[in-house]
Amino acid sequence: MLTRWYTRIIENSDDLAAIATLEAGKPLREAKGEVLYAASFIQFFAHEALRSTGDTIPSPHPQNKTRLWTVKQPVGPCALITPWNFPLAMATRKIGPALAAGNSCILKPAPETPLSALALKLLANDAGIPNEAFQVLTADRENAKDIVGKELMADMRIRKVSFTGSTGAGIALMEQAAKTVKRASMELGGNAPLIVFNDADIDKAVEGCVGAKFRNAGQVCIAINRVFVQSSVHDTFVNKLVARMKSLRIGNGFDSNTTIGPLITPLAVERVQSIVNATIAVGAQLTFQSTISDAVRESGGNFFPPTVLTNVTDSMPVFQSEIFGPVVAISKFETEEEVLSRANNTPYGLAGYVYTRDVSRVHRVSEALEVGMVGVNETAISNELGPFGGVKLSGVGREGSKDGIEEFLETKYVSLGL
Ligand code: ADP
Repeated sequence: MLTRWYTRIIENSDDLAAIATLEAGKPLREAKGEVLYAASFIQFFAHEALRSTGDTIPSPHPQNKTRLWTVKQPVGPCALITPWNFPLAMATRKIGPALAAGNSCILKPAPETPLSALALKLLANDAGIPNEAFQVLTADRENAKDIVGKELMADMRIRKVSFTGSTGAGIALMEQAAKTVKRASMELGGNAPLIVFNDADIDKAVEGCVGAKFRNAGQVCIAINRVFVQSSVHDTFVNKLVARMKSLRIGNGFDSNTTIGPLITPLAVERVQSIVNATIAVGAQLTFQSTISDAVRESGGNFFPPTVLTNVTDSMPVFQSEIFGPVVAISKFETEEEVLSRANNTPYGLAGYVYTRDVSRVHRVSEALEVGMVGVNETAISNELGPFGGVKLSGVGREGSKDGIEEFLETKYVSLGL
């Protein structure tokens, strides 16, 4: 059934992409990429379902009087709660392993993007997945928290919650889930550093920065939030980045020239603007800001121009908060030791990115960064095969990969006396 669902998603990819662009605003090209990314989780976990195997364990008794083994069983009905930034992929990354492990699930999509979830459900049912196995429960912002979240967390029948969203909401859900001792997987906020060492391929670093900063207009939990550039290459990096940013086109996601769409809500634009203002007020320099054409501005979308801030220091608002917008904040550093301590000086730990050609440094830095995922000389790190997840306030558990299905399985141990 999962394999059939995968096929239906691919067959309907143009429609799904159009729905995601309508709901979330992202450029259609990115939405098409998201459909493939979303579908990949269904295909991958359809295969992974065949590998949910237990162990046989040697008897500890001298006379070999027992036989011990384990079986993998579904954890039980799952509550899956997803955000609006990847309305298709965040859903399939949870539904895929939940169903592959043999669980039923209820998906509560974000209030901003319910249609993507409903479209996925239509295709799932079409592929033969029963209504009872995968349900979608939509809710507006208040009901999501006050009724749906509370109800699902209090219900003893729900044995697992998998959530992607803000750290505050994740903590609230974990507290509620504790009363019924549910398993919890949490993909929460990030504050990803990009570290560019003086031996890096600067063109590659600029390209990586553009990819992981402006995808989905920066509304990505693994988006680069803090850029640290070693002093001798700082100015070159900034100049090349600004030159590259001049080719970004802000506009309607359905316009084929658009590379950056609107932010999700007017409030999101206000929030990013206030972070930028507060950072400039304490001494950062506004080095570059893209222009938004009059036609685009007058269309009334929630547009924020791609922006570069330099001379940023660690205590400034733009380094302290998850920007979730197209703003690059850059700071100079001198030594590896200094930058590691600064990069780790945050309660978050989702992704980190490093550009260097020194192989020893690759090992030192990737091991020392307090994050769940490291991109070395690349920033396109998300795919169905790699374990996605964070440490510290960025979450618990992993999604995708062979680890992703484990989160939805219990290990039952059987001891047989002979
Ligand atoms: P964002 O700031 O991106 O909207 P949130 O963490 O507030 O992120 O929301 C992510 C998802 O979690 C959305 O689907 C939202 O409705 C849901 N959500 C947030 N808080 C709760 C809660 N207490 N109970 C259930 N769902 C919640």
